Amino acid sequence: MPKRICILIPCYNEDLIINQSLDELFVFLQNLIENQLVAPSSFIAVVDDGSTDATWQNIREYHFQHPQYNLKAIRLSRNQGHQTALLAGMLHFQPHYDCVITLDADLQDDYRTIVEMVQLFQQNVEIVYGVRKKRKTDSFFKKYSAILFYKFMQWLGVSIIENHADFRLTSSKVVKYLEQFKETNLFLRGIYPLLGFCSACVYYDRLPRKQGKSKYSLAKMIAFALEGVTSLSVKPLRIVTWLGFSIFLISIALSLYALKSYLENKVVPGWTSTVLPMYLLGGIQLLGIGIIGEYIGKIYQEVKQRPRYFIENEI
Ligand code: UDP
Ligand code: MG
Repeated sequence: MPKRICILIPCYNEDLIINQSLDELFVFLQNLIENQLVAPSSFIAVVDDGSTDATWQNIREYHFQHPQYNLKAIRLSRNQGHQTALLAGMLHFQPHYDCVITLDADLQDDYRTIVEMVQLFQQNVEIVYGVRKKRKTDSFFKKYSAILFYKFMQWLGVSIIENHADFRLTSSKVVKYLEQFKETNLFLRGIYPLLGFCSACVYYDRLPRKQGKSKYSLAKMIAFALEGVTSLSVKPLRIVTWLGFSIFLISIALSLYALKSYLENKVVPGWTSTVLPMYLLGGIQLLGIGIIGEYIGKIYQEVKQRPRYFIENEI
């Protein structure tokens, strides 16, 4: 039996491309339906992540102009970020699909890969990760910062799928379990491998963005990486502990040396040896407090258990 699929698209200020993307995707979806690869009740769902441009109007108009297409949409009450938008859509539309495929609005991820994903799903694979083959279309900086990030995460003991962004298929069953992760600080890429279940990867080439700008500025990218690290690993805290311990050992050695010099009457009032450790220790202490603070901040946000998003509108 063909399955009901949902192609889920998060949108933040994408009025330049959303119509074109929907056109392309609906042609693709109709094709899948005609070839009986997916059920006729399959649909495309858009989550408007509190856009401040005409994205929501465009979606509404598109819906009325194309009654033949099965388009659903929700609008969040404000911008909550890509990850939360994805979760909101997955949870909201969960009763209507057997599996959901999350896809960026700019269609940078080759949507034709969905065929392969759905075939795997029919063979009872619950999670299918879209993995890009090469990073040809990324800027030098984005490419290398990503490589560095994956290596760092591996070193921290966090398992994430390398070169996989948020293009993936998730079964309805897994989404129900995903709902039990109540964290406010959401980093889906890190949570998925924690779930288990039968999973597979499909490979594709990532295309350049057609229109509009990337919504991930440098600052957002750094914040996102930091989010990933601190929400999945406590190793940075342990590093602080080890750093403290190492410095403690060094200070014992230095104390012995100082004592020895004193006993041998070799003490000269030294400026460098006073000032250097002061700077060094001050710096390390601040760094340590900063890292610990980062985690306390996370705890602070999590204990409040605030709602993650509100749905303001629905089509
Ligand atoms: N996005 C979102 N909320 C945000 C930022 C981005 O829903 O706060 C969406 C955006 O509209 C796009 C997807 O997330 O569909 C990925 O964003 P983008 O293409 O800018 O990221 P990049 O491909 O540059 O990593
Ligand atoms: Mg993009």
